[in-house]
Amino acid sequence: MPEDCIFCKIINKEIPSEILYEDDLCMIFPDINPVAKTHLLIIPKKHIATIANLAPEDEKLIGHMVGKARDIAKERNIDGYQLLYRVGKGGGQEVFHIHLHLTSDQG
Ligand code: 5GP
Ligand code: ZN
Repeated sequence: MPEDCIFCKIINKEIPSEILYEDDLCMIFPDINPVAKTHLLIIPKKHIATIANLAPEDEKLIGHMVGKARDIAKERNIDGYQLLYRVGKGGGQEVFHIHLHLTSDQG
């Protein structure tokens, strides 16, 4: 784990966050600076900097994260939402540990 990775610190509970869901592969918590009524982040426990660095063996992890985003939205009766991966500085990515944004005006 890179020592300066904020999301690895959240995974290791060195930085507090409201963990809404956790399994062996991923974690879900609210974005600290929400841009919508619901704004959650789904992150893999494995440190991968960006989708651009994704190895073929990690592609199934992305499907797992999308499935968990679907599940938490359904649990919250959110039936319309956006899912976003920003990729690279040019794509607006600021935290270089893959994360899936789930945003919605519902919830
Ligand atoms: P990016 O621009 O990389 O796609 O998004 C990074 C997101 O992480 C931003 O929406 C930002 O608000 C969120 N974020 C940054 N630091 C923290 C933190 O320490 N805790 C939480 N919960 N969210 C964070
Ligand atoms: Zn990390």
